[in-house]
Amino acid sequence: MQPIVDKEKCIGCGTCVALCPGSFKWDESGVKVEAIVPPEDNEVSLKEAAEACPVQAIILE
Ligand code: SF4
Repeated sequence: MQPIVDKEKCIGCGTCVALCPGSFKWDESGVKVEAIVPPEDNEVSLKEAAEACPVQAIILE
C-alpha cells in the first residue's frame, strides 16, 4: 500500500511523520511532507496516519 501526500492540502503538522517515520518525511521545503517510496510501515499504521491527518491530505493506493 503506497501513500500519496496531497501537498496542496498538507499543513505540515507532522502527525504522519510521527506515526509512520518509515513512510513519510519532510520535503526539501521543510514545511510539507512527502511519502517515502516504498513505504516501510504496515497497512494498519498507514491507515491510522491517513485517518489522523487533520486535512485528509493522505491518499492510500
Ligand atoms: S498529517 Fe497530513 S497535514 Fe500533517 S504533515 Fe502529514 S500529510 Fe501533512
